[in-house]
Amino acid sequence: MNDEFSELRNQVEVCTNCTLHKTRLKSVFGEGPNDSKVLFVGLGPGYHENQEGRPFVGAAGKLLDDLLVLSGLKREDVYITNILKCYLPDNKAKDEEIATCTSYLDKQIALIQPKFIIPLGNVAASYLLRKFGQPIAPMRNLHTKIFSISTLFFQTKIIPMYHPAAALRNPGLKSMVREDWRKLGNLI
Ligand code: SF4
Repeated sequence: MNDEFSELRNQVEVCTNCTLHKTRLKSVFGEGPNDSKVLFVGLGPGYHENQEGRPFVGAAGKLLDDLLVLSGLKREDVYITNILKCYLPDNKAKDEEIATCTSYLDKQIALIQPKFIIPLGNVAASYLLRKFGQPIAPMRNLHTKIFSISTLFFQTKIIPMYHPAAALRNPGLKSMVREDWRKLGNLI
């Protein structure tokens, strides 16, 4: 599996399948153990992630680290990636970019076969719920709900959560988001 992961990472590093490669300094493939039980999926790299080539290293990353502590999970034990692997200058993903790039995420999921997939934010939640034939809804109706998924190859549970950046943009969400992460720790 490590060879397949390395090959996939190499493909992402030189990918020119959508226009986002033009603003890429470093692609952000994802990081964590290849056999992690828990897979977090955000939207796409921001300014700091583009500089460092790592997911969630900016302000939202700092908050994610704090939230992981609340849930009792260790960052080094979980796999963290995004729907899109190259810098999103305006933080808005176009449908064609999502359609093109998610082939990489699909392969990551197939290789990791996580017991829990945690989409962070509406875009990741909508993509993953649709992919596995589940109904989509606004995050206010989805957060901390459990969707049990069974495929020919593996079983998993999808638990959508607000993106940490949502709590940064809207401080009114912060206490609910913190409570959600405590709950997540009990769910997984
Ligand atoms: S965002 Fe994805 S599809 Fe677009 S260039 Fe980067 S790796 Fe390729």
